[in-house]
Amino acid sequence: MEKIRVFLRWMSIDPRHPEIAQAQYNELKTQIPSLYALLMVNAIAVAYTHYDVAPVYLTVGVLVPMLILTSIRMVAWIRARHVTLGPEDAIRKMRQTVILGSVMAVIYISWSLSLDGYGGPEERGHVALFIAITVIGCIFCLMNLPQAAFAVMFIVTVPYLVYYIGQDQDVYFAIAMNIFLVCLVVMQVLISGYRGFCKLVQSQSDLAAKQKETERLNAENARLAQTDALTDLPNRRYFFNRLETLIANLEGNETKFAVGVVDLDRFKPINDTYGHQLGDQLLMEVGSRLQKLGAERNIEVCRLGGDEFGFLYQGNTDEAAGTGQAICDLITEPYKIGDLTLTVGASCGIAVYPEAGKSAHALFDRSDYALYNSKTTSRGHTTVYSEEHEARIRSERAIETALQKADLDTEFQVYFQPVVSLPDQSVVGFEALARWHSPVLKNVPPDRFIAVAERTGQINRLTMSLFDKAVRQIKELPGDLSLSFNLSAQDITSAVTVHALLDAIERHGVNPRLITFEITETSVIGSYEVAEECLQTLRGAGVKLALDDFGTGYSSLGYLHRLPIDCVKVDRSFVAGIHEPVASGVITSIINLCRSMEMLCVVEGVEDRTQLELLSALRCNLVQGYHFAPPLPFDRIMESARANGTVEGLSLSSADGMEELRLSSA
Ligand code: C2E
Ligand code: CA
Ligand code: CA
Repeated sequence: MEKIRVFLRWMSIDPRHPEIAQAQYNELKTQIPSLYALLMVNAIAVAYTHYDVAPVYLTVGVLVPMLILTSIRMVAWIRARHVTLGPEDAIRKMRQTVILGSVMAVIYISWSLSLDGYGGPEERGHVALFIAITVIGCIFCLMNLPQAAFAVMFIVTVPYLVYYIGQDQDVYFAIAMNIFLVCLVVMQVLISGYRGFCKLVQSQSDLAAKQKETERLNAENARLAQTDALTDLPNRRYFFNRLETLIANLEGNETKFAVGVVDLDRFKPINDTYGHQLGDQLLMEVGSRLQKLGAERNIEVCRLGGDEFGFLYQGNTDEAAGTGQAICDLITEPYKIGDLTLTVGASCGIAVYPEAGKSAHALFDRSDYALYNSKTTSRGHTTVYSEEHEARIRSERAIETALQKADLDTEFQVYFQPVVSLPDQSVVGFEALARWHSPVLKNVPPDRFIAVAERTGQINRLTMSLFDKAVRQIKELPGDLSLSFNLSAQDITSAVTVHALLDAIERHGVNPRLITFEITETSVIGSYEVAEECLQTLRGAGVKLALDDFGTGYSSLGYLHRLPIDCVKVDRSFVAGIHEPVASGVITSIINLCRSMEMLCVVEGVEDRTQLELLSALRCNLVQGYHFAPPLPFDRIMESARANGTVEGLSLSSADGMEELRLSSA
């Protein structure tokens, strides 16, 4: 029963293998026309030999409609050669072919056998041969549709055999039997060939499917390789690939576009305070906001890494700054993460192609430079790279070159600015400030060359040379005066430099308590953990630490608590505005803060008497500024100290009393 069901399913063309059916049909298309041609030629030959012996209605009357029907089918198949059918249509067409083939077989076998009654042994022999040859020919032509081949064979050979058995003629019976057996063998061969064909098609289609899957995986891998896993935005690789493609497409064209870099402000403290997981969540939120904005405004936004994002803007470049600002403003809106409401800032730098650069790296560097400008001079805003920046870069390059060739011993000097205690107005120590007289560039201001030395990795060498000079000179002054020395971010994150500084202190035999290293919040923020370790080492050796430019950076109270700080230096911008309530309020609260934490507090930039009086009223006890003395060369200080024990008219006292100057609520 099961076998019959399988056989019937096979005969009706199994629809479960559409790819095989389609391949079968494609092969069949090319063979069926030959089948019909063979059929017609053979039939005409039989009709011809029987023309004289059989009735005309049989030789001509029946043959002609048969030939017409056969030709119509043949033409239909020839036309079908150029038509590609889908699997479903191919299956339908093949089912039709099985049925039609069976009908044709019935017609042809009936016609041939009806002719057998006429003529002598030769004519009868011709009929037997016609049937035999034609059926084998047809089976061969139908080898790609074995179902039809089987039907035709069955419909032809069985009646053929039965007919000759009925005739009781041994020779014809033997021929019929022979043909039947040959057909069986041929069918067996065809079916095994057909199985091979099916296997081949199946393996080809498996291979194609595998190839398709591989292609899909490759495409997916390529997408992932260009996607940032955290934010799902395109990543840095995509950004540069896209930038390069854009430039290649626009070469020789007038079209402009803008490259932007956006960096979050205050992300680091959030990460440090709330942990990396929350930091990641925040970045994801930022990413999803930017993705939305990008889609709305047709900007390609990417995450370049850390808290840095990049974008490509192909609209009107005059509006690029506005776009950058829209991004910054969007990032600045508060975030609700769990129970927390957080805010971060964002600054942006933009470079426009082709003015700012014609290569991906040039454009990126310029937008990064513009970003650096936003970060240092106008946080939260957007800077577009300009001619002015170009000139600045050129002068920085000149500084860089001169610095590389500079003789640190002869070209660099340390100037000393007195730190004055109030109310007695005596000098308790000095802040060492670097001066460079380059034979090529003449006098270069310290904030310029320090920044270049930091960027080019020459700062540690410079720090060591300057510190050595400063310690050597301060030692020559009478009394125990304190020395404040500025350190850069790279200094306080390098264990080697920290140990070299302590070595120098020991080598010169200076009391470490007289040394204060000044650091800024920004220099600590970059790599907090390493910096903290180095600062603890310094503090452990007995030197003091001061937080410089306080009030201008993050002024995060967290840092005051977490870092081993002894002293806060109030930035001079507050003294400059001391007549305004905001600035004087800031100074008052910093002084109060230092008082409650029992820290030293130096107010910088005191330039006139009224400022001094206002500060005295706030019970400020350490000051620095042009009102007392500018930074002076060592010789000048040494001279007047030797002559009358003063500097710019201020008496030199000792740093011994410094500890008492720690502001205390008492
Ligand atoms: P800073 O550490 O904040 O140094 C104070 C700056 O204010 C000095 O500028 C000083 O000349 C200036 N200044 C002092 N009193 C007054 C005043 O009453 N009014 C005004 N308007 N300015 C006053 P300078 O010497 O040009 O140094 C600039 C910056 O360069 C320093 O700022 C410091 O950050 C850096 N720097 C200087 N020397 C070194 C050094 O040896 N190493 C490192 N890492 N940085 C240094
Ligand atoms: Ca300083
Ligand atoms: Ca300062």
